[in-house]
Amino acid sequence: MRVAVFSTKKYDRQFFDRANEQAGHDLVFFEARLTPETSSLADGFDGICAFVNDQLDEEVLEVLAERGVKLIALRSAGFNHVDLKTATRLGLKVARVPAYSPFAVAEHTLALILALNRKIHRAYNRVREGNFSLDGLLGFDMHGRTVGIVGTGKIGTVFARLLSGFGCELLAYDPYPNDDCRELGVEYVEMKELLRRSDIISLHCPLHPETHHLIDEASVEEMKDGVMLINTSRGGLVDTAAVISGLKSEKIGALGLDVYEEETELFFEDLSDRVIRDDIFARLLTFPNVIITGHQGFFTQEALHNIAQTTLSNITAFETGEGTLHAVDYDV
Ligand code: NAD
Repeated sequence: MRVAVFSTKKYDRQFFDRANEQAGHDLVFFEARLTPETSSLADGFDGICAFVNDQLDEEVLEVLAERGVKLIALRSAGFNHVDLKTATRLGLKVARVPAYSPFAVAEHTLALILALNRKIHRAYNRVREGNFSLDGLLGFDMHGRTVGIVGTGKIGTVFARLLSGFGCELLAYDPYPNDDCRELGVEYVEMKELLRRSDIISLHCPLHPETHHLIDEASVEEMKDGVMLINTSRGGLVDTAAVISGLKSEKIGALGLDVYEEETELFFEDLSDRVIRDDIFARLLTFPNVIITGHQGFFTQEALHNIAQTTLSNITAFETGEGTLHAVDYDV
């Protein structure tokens, strides 16, 4: 099948080309992000392949359908950026990669926690400047600390398993608790109790209208003083202004983000010779107890391999009707 691949980076091409040796699709790679301005590039393609910051709203979907596109193959698990109602109305099938490596994101979450706790980002710079003072680098034992996990799906469960190895007390909130977590000793509680009891809170639930700004001013107020908050899920789960207030009042003692609600204009690009115009993001960068990574939780060799394989098998399944198509339907 002829597919236009948007937002392609060198590493995407490397993994897709390798996986496509078997799948044999006609892939055309575009570096451009999918937007109303670039959507006409899809002219003459049967399908498009998109990533998390590609624009898949009504305006773009209308153009894609007009140009003859029938399949939107997401190379992500999340699909909050797709207007599914419009896609269904236009007869566009949407497929995703439901799981590629829960380990990648869970391990990155742990990396943020450990780096923030032991101030690795500050220690790294200090030592390079010949400053071996330990002032300001005091951390705490993970052992015995209470960690609240919001969302115990695939990633949240792996994360719980990693933390159980540290001897942490594990709390979780999820409308659908799972037995794997219970067996690990996870105690399911209501969200308010999780906020009140946790030393570290980590978000692993999807973004949908009900979870938008799940962490807002009121929920920050409920948290323990000096709490560590981690979001490797989706930026929109957190009201950034509320979190900045929490950092300023020292209610929030550390913040680790791999996602940001306005990341579309920033992440995945080298903007090092430009001025950052997003004042809220720029403010976040000024705190010594904040670490931000640019949506790299998924970025391991295993995950990229699995993403390419599953995306191409989705395309094959759509084309031939054979194999599994990981479809996302409007009423999911
Ligand atoms: P999953 O579907 O396996 O699990 C999500 C869990 O969240 C489910 O158990 C669900 O019941 C629960 N949930 C739903 N609504 C909730 C709510 N209001 N409160 C608490 N829990 C709720 O998904 P997953 O594979 O574990 O991925 C989790 C999230 O991680 C994804 O939605 C995606 O946004 C994010 N993600 C980030 C990266 C990255 O690179 N940083 C990569 C992949 C996925």
